[in-house]
Amino acid sequence: MAYKITEDCISCGACEAECPNKAISEGDTTYKIDPDKCTECVGVHDTSKCAEVCPVEAPKPDPAHKETKEQLMAKYKKLHP
Ligand code: SF4
Ligand code: SF4
Repeated sequence: MAYKITEDCISCGACEAECPNKAISEGDTTYKIDPDKCTECVGVHDTSKCAEVCPVEAPKPDPAHKETKEQLMAKYKKLHP
């Protein structure tokens, strides 16, 4: 399940550098996550780094992008051939 950044984001930028897939970028009012690149950190970390480093817990799993661990791993491998 890809993560999304909620309106709680204060645009501190801490999460951007932590994403192993470069899925995070600065948006108009909050930072945003590209669901095609977010693997929930599967392939690299055991936990979701953006959620871990965020001071306001803005990154949350996005129910609109339900994926299995196998699908997330396949996505990771596609992004890092
Ligand atoms: S969960 Fe991991 S892969 Fe997804 S946006 Fe956050 S840091 Fe990037
Ligand atoms: S770490 Fe949290 S508050 Fe900072 S930019 Fe990322 S989502 Fe927004």
